[in-house]
Amino acid sequence: MELDSLYQEVILDHYKNPHHKGLPTGAIQVHHVNPSCGDEITLSLAVSNGIITDLVWDGVGCSISQASSSIMSDLVVGKSVDQAFSILDEFSALMASKGAMVGNEDVLEDAIALAGVSKFPARVKCALLGWMAFKDAAIQADISWRREQ
Ligand code: ZN
Repeated sequence: MELDSLYQEVILDHYKNPHHKGLPTGAIQVHHVNPSCGDEITLSLAVSNGIITDLVWDGVGCSISQASSSIMSDLVVGKSVDQAFSILDEFSALMASKGAMVGNEDVLEDAIALAGVSKFPARVKCALLGWMAFKDAAIQADISWRREQ
């Protein structure tokens, strides 16, 4: 797999120094796996008043899956669930583009470094793993917060 070298560096940087990685301890926890590559993630987050206030994830797997989870965490913490889901939609469209899209940097920030992954269908699942875990957890956390009000 060949990616632009600058983008490669962004991915490696997140892989070596992942953001928001730690021991997930929150009440809402999800565990997702990508059996085709062996990637795994456990993710915990908190939602308060529709805002993602905290997110911690732990995982093992390839550099794409780990870097993508790190990039995703930076993008969604502090955002409203709605904002985060629209970023997720934008990233999903990029991953489904088979190399046709470059990605909107204003919305996706470091995640545009993963644009080249969309040319490799087998790796798209790696890139989406953390994002799907986030979506799952955010829906559960939002419902649980509303219930407690
Ligand atoms: Zn992978």
